[in-house]
Amino acid sequence: MSDSLWRFSIFVGITALMLILQWLAPKRQPRISTRKRWQANIGILLVDIVALRLVAPAGLAAVALAADEWQWGLFNNVTLPAWSVWLLGLIALDIGLYWQHRLFHRIPLLWRMHRVHHADKDFDVSTGVRFHPLEIVLSLGWKAVMVLALGVPASVILVFEILLNACSMFNHANYALPARLEALVRKLLITQELHRIHHSSKITETNSNYGFSVSWWDHLFASFTATAEKGSDGVDIGLTNINREQDHASLWGLLTMPFRQFPQGSVASPQAGERSQPTQSSKG
Ligand SMILES: [Zn+2]
Ligand SMILES: [Zn+2]
Repeated sequence: MSDSLWRFSIFVGITALMLILQWLAPKRQPRISTRKRWQANIGILLVDIVALRLVAPAGLAAVALAADEWQWGLFNNVTLPAWSVWLLGLIALDIGLYWQHRLFHRIPLLWRMHRVHHADKDFDVSTGVRFHPLEIVLSLGWKAVMVLALGVPASVILVFEILLNACSMFNHANYALPARLEALVRKLLITQELHRIHHSSKITETNSNYGFSVSWWDHLFASFTATAEKGSDGVDIGLTNINREQDHASLWGLLTMPFRQFPQGSVASPQAGERSQPTQSSKG
């Protein structure tokens, strides 16, 4: 089976499982039309797929192969057992993505793109694929820089991308693991409960739980929030300043969102967030 077929099959498998779970036992009832949201979220996924094909048809594996051929990057210039290259490579890439996510919240220009993900008024599997194509392309560029700097093998990239996709589908499901299981799983992974806090309209909660996969980096870099102020059922999902359906639940609204002005409200950086918080309404 080819690499991309593996990726696609695992993506479809995890997504199907999460769709079944959120259909059988939804954590929250939708606030707006699921049909409209899904049209927008799946629409932007399709635009992302086309954008990636146009910008980088050969993908990150080609960058890893080039790094290998040119003997670029840390792991191409030190002698380490293969298993440790794998382990350190996965850890380094994941920490790199944690910081990428944090910068997308911190830098206003990047937040313009990333707010597309956060403006979703509900939270389900489709939110996990809702990213602006500019963010997808910038993220690919950042991953390419990491691959060249680290010199990680193409096989590590493949596994990393599969794990990342699987985790994103897992932690965006409108589902909650049984409480005792969740308490265990969150020691290792960002669960739905933890990531739902990241989608809160409360800025100090939005600017926390940045991890995509393991929950360790949020502990390590002091951005972990264990419980939402309003509890897991009460979190207001979305951004308080983007409220019209044509803005947050249409493909055109999502594609144009980075280029538009919205009233002050849910802004990115913690300092700005703390300043603007008193003026923020509590409802999304
Ligand atoms: Zn975010
Ligand atoms: Zn998310």
